[in-house]
Amino acid sequence: METLASARRPRTCRACGKRFEYPVKGSEATRHHCENCVEVPPETRKALERLSTRVAQLEAQLKTLQAKPIAAD
Ligand SMILES: [Zn+2]
Repeated sequence: METLASARRPRTCRACGKRFEYPVKGSEATRHHCENCVEVPPETRKALERLSTRVAQLEAQLKTLQAKPIAAD
């Protein structure tokens, strides 16, 4: 049974963080990588993924730090 309408939802590219639709007819994008990053060599993409993960972690930490005031003592 085809459930394309519900299967197609916004994805976030693991390598560059771009939001993209998947699956899109005629698009090379995969579940985890957008059209652009699919063409990037795997080793390079791995590096991008590492950086992207790191940035996400730092953003989360920053949010936590911004949420709570610095302890007085
Ligand atoms: Zn991408």
